[in-house]
Amino acid sequence: MSGGGVSNPYVVIFIALMAVLVVQLIVSYVSSKKQRAQQELPIKTVSVVGCVRGDYEIEKEFSEGDFVGRVVGDCPQCGAPLIIKRIFVVTVGPKQQKS
Ligand SMILES: [Zn+2]
Repeated sequence: MSGGGVSNPYVVIFIALMAVLVVQLIVSYVSSKKQRAQQELPIKTVSVVGCVRGDYEIEKEFSEGDFVGRVVGDCPQCGAPLIIKRIFVVTVGPKQQKS
């Protein structure tokens, strides 16, 4: 007698265990990703760009490669070089409850 197609119960249990393992892996991966996003959200890095002659200043969002003293353009007021004057971090967390 050779009845093919009947699943071995051990194979079924093994597959079920694997499925649980995979689901757990996905859940932990998603939750760790969520935590990382929450850590990144409330912080914002700002670069203060200003004219070397001091007649113009503006804040812009920090972009990769920015450093203090970097020339980023020309002053719209006098045409002198615009440089990054300072870089600082601000918290922009939505949880600002004052009662
Ligand atoms: Zn200027």
